[in-house]
Amino acid sequence: MTIELHHFLDGKPVPGTSGRFADVFDPSTGAVQARVPLATADEVADAVRSAAAAQQEWAAWNPQRRARVLMRFLDLVRAEEDSLARLLSSEHGKTVVDAKGDIQRGLEVVEFAIGIPHLLKGEFSDSAGTGIDVYSMRQPLGVVAGITPFNFPAMIPLWKAAPAIACGNAFVLKPSERDPSVPLRLAELFVEAGLPPGVFSVVNGDKVAVDALLTDPLVEAVGFVGSSDIAQYVYSTAAAHGKRAQCFGGAKNHLIVMPDADLDQVVDALIGAGYGSAGERCMAISVAVPVGEATADALVAKLAERVRSLKVGAALDESADFGPLVTAAAVDRVLEYVEAGVAEGAELVVDGRGLTVPGHENGFFLGGFLFDHVRPEMRIYQEEIFGPVLSIVRAADYAEALRLPSEHEYGNGVAIFTRDGDTARDFTARVNTGMVGVNVPIPVPIAYHTFGGWKRSGFGDLNQHGPDAVRFYTKTKTVTSRWPSGIKEGASFVIPTMS
Ligand code: NAD
Repeated sequence: MTIELHHFLDGKPVPGTSGRFADVFDPSTGAVQARVPLATADEVADAVRSAAAAQQEWAAWNPQRRARVLMRFLDLVRAEEDSLARLLSSEHGKTVVDAKGDIQRGLEVVEFAIGIPHLLKGEFSDSAGTGIDVYSMRQPLGVVAGITPFNFPAMIPLWKAAPAIACGNAFVLKPSERDPSVPLRLAELFVEAGLPPGVFSVVNGDKVAVDALLTDPLVEAVGFVGSSDIAQYVYSTAAAHGKRAQCFGGAKNHLIVMPDADLDQVVDALIGAGYGSAGERCMAISVAVPVGEATADALVAKLAERVRSLKVGAALDESADFGPLVTAAAVDRVLEYVEAGVAEGAELVVDGRGLTVPGHENGFFLGGFLFDHVRPEMRIYQEEIFGPVLSIVRAADYAEALRLPSEHEYGNGVAIFTRDGDTARDFTARVNTGMVGVNVPIPVPIAYHTFGGWKRSGFGDLNQHGPDAVRFYTKTKTVTSRWPSGIKEGASFVIPTMS
């Protein structure tokens, strides 16, 4: 029986009323396991109104009391980490151990948000003028919305919601329609932890729901993560409606292999970062750039063998390196890129087509692909594939290797593997990319630093989590006060100065 999912409003599950649904698949079997309602604009408006009402009381709680709800939430999520991870895997297709990582990286931002009272403190200038004090306070925005992608259904909603609600906002989440069950369960756990109803809501939906959030006058800010064209659309539409927006997009992350790098370490890094989660990570490495022909030949020889021996299995198979892709459409999109790569003249060293997983013949599986001799003018280099496909672009020297990621239209993550500190230092200073790893293939910053790509990987000026999240989810009010004498000498028509 197909499960019918719901929205989560005012602290409880609410069935959809639009009559429109999206199928939620089990990617390991290819079967539809649930259908999720797609909200109407009116349903979104109702969710936003109840969030606005709940936010008034929530903002009046003192910051530590709000943080205590997050502490309890942390414990509740940890207590059911196993079942949540299995639920996540069953809709997304990533392995259970990887799903636990998805939850854990989200919880790390909840831990950070528990300390947010410290960051909500304003600035204070005593006696800025005679009898005048100037101070600032950070106040919540009101209702804020999050629109999130399928590939991290626990982590990204928590990256946005935890700082937002710790700052005193109410949060309306529009999760991906591909895997909405984990966000719905997180909403229940928030209420169990003591969050007042309406402070965290989930409206499921598609473009209709997104557009309703982007144009609702009660929504003050929008945080988006997904593909770049939609990120740009959300950013410009939100701005046109007077909202703050931070919108993170796609990626094409390079890993530079210098001739002095430890090649075994590089191969391990590329296998994990290129093929983990079937390459469906915004920080996946999709381009390896060996410097010099000798480095390239040695790398390709070692890599090819490892890619051929990757174990692809069902999401719940504990021995699998990675599971299926999220949908049949995702498989088709990857296959189209593979054909384009072959047609454009790249050398397909390992071909992941035609793989079947016994007992799961209808699952959305692909094996690992490895392309060599990829050139910058090829589509498989320029565009995000978002699958288990690694491209080798051979660079003649360090200058060319530095230029490739710097000139690419995406600028999310990049890594360099080298034993030379001078090269690493030059690279980190000059590369035109938002997050850099030195001998670290997936440089996702820890929760108390900030996450954000550059160029078409990020639209907006503040990053996710860390101190930037507090700046994004609060507005600064600055007070200039004069005590005890007040104004006694009559009106002044000159701009106030502190002289
Ligand atoms: P997507 O852009 O298809 O969907 C993201 C969200 O936008 C979903 O909630 C979806 O319902 C909504 N959406 C889809 N089409 C829309 C439209 N026409 N109008 C309004 N809203 C729309 O992305 P996805 O396939 O779910 O996720 C994969 C993408 O996300 C990849 O490009 C990946 O690189 C990117 N991503 C980026 C980061 C980052 O931090 N930069 C992190 C994770 C994923």
